Amino acid sequence: MLLQGKTALIVGVANKRSIAWGIAEAFHREGATLAFNYQGERLKENVEGLAAAMPGALVVPCDVTNDAEIDAMFAAVKEKLGRLDILVHCVAFAKKEDLEGAFVGTSRDGFAMALDISAYSLTALAQRAAPLMGGEGPDAPGGAILALTYLGADRVVPKYNVMGVAKAALESSIRYLAWDLGQRNIRVNGISAGPINTLAARGIAGFTSILQHVREKSPLKRNTEPAEVGDAAVFLCSDLGRGVTGEVLYVDNGYHIMGT
Ligand code: NAD
Repeated sequence: MLLQGKTALIVGVANKRSIAWGIAEAFHREGATLAFNYQGERLKENVEGLAAAMPGALVVPCDVTNDAEIDAMFAAVKEKLGRLDILVHCVAFAKKEDLEGAFVGTSRDGFAMALDISAYSLTALAQRAAPLMGGEGPDAPGGAILALTYLGADRVVPKYNVMGVAKAALESSIRYLAWDLGQRNIRVNGISAGPINTLAARGIAGFTSILQHVREKSPLKRNTEPAEVGDAAVFLCSDLGRGVTGEVLYVDNGYHIMGT
């Protein structure tokens, strides 16, 4: 029960395959009280259905491109949960055409959209979460913020394209937020997950061959499971991770260490 008495807002559940759901299951097992968003009416039923298994969970709409919806989500969290201990960001989007062709062909509009939804949204959420995590100073109760990223931030993964640039911005945002929010005792970290077959991943051209390649080349010879990400998230967001901030932890069965 590493998260007993803690409250967590998990942004980015679409369905039961979502990495966010793997994190939610681990947090629930460890005793956290959870809140979820859903992006638009299309996903409402899915998220409400999943959250029903977690008594007391709050479910609210929020599209991260809409400031009014972000404000309303945090107002609901404040009203229902009082304070917030943990914020988890599992949100990414790029236009389909920008994940198919060459990166050099990325449109201005596609670039702006991918960066807004996949990177800026972390800052937009963090600036509203921080006041719900307590006051200033090293003895403030503080909290933990976690975002999901991918190796394509550092290395060229063909077809990942503009999403790689967005993840690089996300990882840099993690470090700047860690500096800013450290004085409130809020830690900000990332998990760089190995490829997992989710709704978002299926938008990347050739994703199945990426899964196979990583399975064959990684030291542990298998693909990453959402539950593995969930357990690492418990570490980073619980007191076990109290000395860690501004860090990106790879949960990829070791794939990123390989040179071939
Ligand atoms: P997913 O499709 O289950 O989750 C993506 C979520 O982003 C969805 O819930 C979707 O509703 C949400 N989203 C997109 N645009 C949004 C918007 N405008 N407002 C609010 N929400 C929006 O896929 P996933 O793979 O679980 O993705 C979760 C995170 O994990 C993403 O940041 C992704 O880049 C990252 N990640 C995924 C993999 C992988 O291989 N699947 C690997 C590393 C990192």
